[in-house]
Amino acid sequence: MDVNDVKPEPDSMINIRDLSIRCGRCETYQTLTAYEPGDGYNVYTYECENSTCRPEQTRTQVEVPVVLDLFARRHPESGCDGGCGTG
Ligand SMILES: [Zn+2]
Repeated sequence: MDVNDVKPEPDSMINIRDLSIRCGRCETYQTLTAYEPGDGYNVYTYECENSTCRPEQTRTQVEVPVVLDLFARRHPESGCDGGCGTG
């Protein structure tokens, strides 16, 4: 493949993996546990992975506009089956 065929990443897109989601209750970083493609927005779910918080009480959902969602574009089929834990 010619190097000129490689398209640069658009700066304006959002890579969910670049975000750090912290819990406001226990102040530890939350883990991405679910990904759900939506109509217009993709929804990423983060949960605390400790014994301090109950996930159902502190779960965070981040909605990323589909057109800006770089991570989903790179992993269109994966969902969380091998997609969430890796970059
Ligand atoms: Zn927490």
